Amino acid sequence: MQAHVRIYQSDAVFLGQGSLVRDGAIVVDEHDTVRDVGVASEVIPRHGGVPVERLPGLITPALVNAHTHLELSALRGKTRGGHGFFPWAQGMLEARAQLSDEENTAAVEGAVRELTASGTVAIGDVSNSLRAVHACARARIGGIVFHEVFGYDFVRCSQRLQQLHHERDEIVGAWPNGDLRYAPAPHALYSLHPELIKAVVRAARNQGVRTSIHLSEHAGEQEFLENGTGPVAQFAEFLGTELGDFPIPNQRPVPYARTLDLVGSDVIGVHLTTANRQEFDAIAAAHMPIVLCPRSNLFIELRLPPLLDALAAGIRPALGTDSLASNHSLDVLAEARALAERFPSVPSTALWSMVTAWGADALDRPDLGRLAAGTRPGLLWFQGDITTAESDPLRTFLKSSPAQRKKIAAKGVAVMGPTLMATLRDYTSLVAFSHTIFALPFAATAVVLSLLQPRLPLTMGRVGAMVFCLVTARTAAMAFNRYLDREIDAKNPRTQTREIPAGAISAAAALTLTRVCCVLFVASAASLGWVSGLLSIPVLAILLGYSWTKRFTWAAHWVLGAALALAPGGAWIAMGAAPQAAIIALMLAVLTWVAGFDILYSLQDEDFDRNEGLRSVPARFGTLKAVWISRVMHVMTVLAWLSTGWFTQRHGAYFLGVGLATALLVYEHTLVGNGNLHQINRAFFTVNGYVSLLFFLLTALDVYLSLGTLIAS
Ligand SMILES: [Zn+2]
Repeated sequence: MQAHVRIYQSDAVFLGQGSLVRDGAIVVDEHDTVRDVGVASEVIPRHGGVPVERLPGLITPALVNAHTHLELSALRGKTRGGHGFFPWAQGMLEARAQLSDEENTAAVEGAVRELTASGTVAIGDVSNSLRAVHACARARIGGIVFHEVFGYDFVRCSQRLQQLHHERDEIVGAWPNGDLRYAPAPHALYSLHPELIKAVVRAARNQGVRTSIHLSEHAGEQEFLENGTGPVAQFAEFLGTELGDFPIPNQRPVPYARTLDLVGSDVIGVHLTTANRQEFDAIAAAHMPIVLCPRSNLFIELRLPPLLDALAAGIRPALGTDSLASNHSLDVLAEARALAERFPSVPSTALWSMVTAWGADALDRPDLGRLAAGTRPGLLWFQGDITTAESDPLRTFLKSSPAQRKKIAAKGVAVMGPTLMATLRDYTSLVAFSHTIFALPFAATAVVLSLLQPRLPLTMGRVGAMVFCLVTARTAAMAFNRYLDREIDAKNPRTQTREIPAGAISAAAALTLTRVCCVLFVASAASLGWVSGLLSIPVLAILLGYSWTKRFTWAAHWVLGAALALAPGGAWIAMGAAPQAAIIALMLAVLTWVAGFDILYSLQDEDFDRNEGLRSVPARFGTLKAVWISRVMHVMTVLAWLSTGWFTQRHGAYFLGVGLATALLVYEHTLVGNGNLHQINRAFFTVNGYVSLLFFLLTALDVYLSLGTLIAS
């Protein structure tokens, strides 16, 4: 972010509370606090000398997603909708039981990056596990985390409620900051005993923080509360509990909520899908904030919340995406778009207010969601052409993808900035540092095999310089690849949460990192001898040049393989060993191994690549043929490994390594089957990491058994 006072002038500025300013201007100070906003011809003269940046398109406050369940993010695409709430919930819980901790944690991290990429700065996140708290804090996402309580066992639930604070402290440790608040929250009217609902709400009120409840969400809830019948009892049975002495109120949800003193300004009602006009009037009179989740309702129930009734009652609803278990994305603007398509009479200013000012109001954050002197909502710039005065820019940019939004000012109130560790994590993730595990062991294998040849002495300095070469070369290649592909990555749902499209690292910073690493690589290669120094230039050309290849040839996989094969080749030369068949065979093994698994990996992007005109084996030949080409590559890998062993006259341990690595490759192919994409990440990372590591360890053992040492010069 820019740390100086500046003025942004744009064709249109949305204030976040119902009004759009044509040819508007915003003054923000060095802390990104809004100082002045209005029509450009009035604002700019009031601030003489302040630089004006002209941004064509629309500027709005950053977005607020008032209802999510980030902990369910790993369930994207794994649930079935369209059959009502309980069939969905049952399927969701069954799918959830299959997930590992690692999958959940990775999905939450990805979800937080997705929120950031969509321009969202505050959320209302309902959580049982509190898994997303630190990830949100690191991404400087504010709002409220609702710690959810539900269950039919009165004694167990009241005990848990009393222990809730300890549970929180045990999971989260020190709460990260005041920008993200914590509140206990009841799940729903039908899933918790009324006395416990009251106790949860009382606990939140005592802390002075808003709580939230799923309210009037589906027909099953209404039937149960009115008559004690319907699918709720069956669902309780599925959960392995009994309704016990749950008192049936014989009332519709909203009137029942009123008897529990829930309908007030400090309890957020979520969904209201089955509420009627009279009930909305009562909600409006009590100033109860409400959140609608249209795409989730459409997914689960094939119906929309009664938006027109709510608006007619004078309610200003917020919008939420709900979880990825019932939605395709966490982009809250897509909720407004879904409403726009089905309620064409609702003005676009109201739709935009729902995802900005009204969302901030629901979360009790008057400092967010609106542009007014003193707010620090974060600014989004929607780049585009607004030429005709009669066009509605708000309606036009409802259709914008996250990639079209650019953050031009940060939101405030984040008590803690990003820590050094978080920044470091962004950078190591940018260059996929962990992938070094693929290249490093084969370079080490080459070093160990070179010990059998006439060569230079193996000193600690030489080892250090080789490792440094490898790390800088890889970092340069990856950073450059992410830099060059940043626009492609922004369009692909699988990669749009990468650091540059997500805004965690700027494109310029990635390019600088590339340049610095190139210089360091050439310098450290030169320190290994003039041959290494001279060869480092063409090596860099291949490493960086690879990034372009998928734009014009499906042979890109082999270029990547060649790039990684340079690691053992380079190590061999750095050891001063003469080029010969053994090392060429090892390089061929790495080339075919990498090309083979890169083909499998790119199966995930087959459709995307085709649509974007990018070249890959799956995009060119289809899934089945791609899998077969990958298999042929890996057969060649095994033959090349065998040749290396034969040329260097290796013994049992080496060939045992070949055998084990071969078994892992076979396992990798059984995982992927004929295109089973779900397994590709696991296949890719875990198995390939073991292949290279095992191969190195057994080669080292074999050479040690031959020489009696690995460190003698
Ligand atoms: Zn929900």
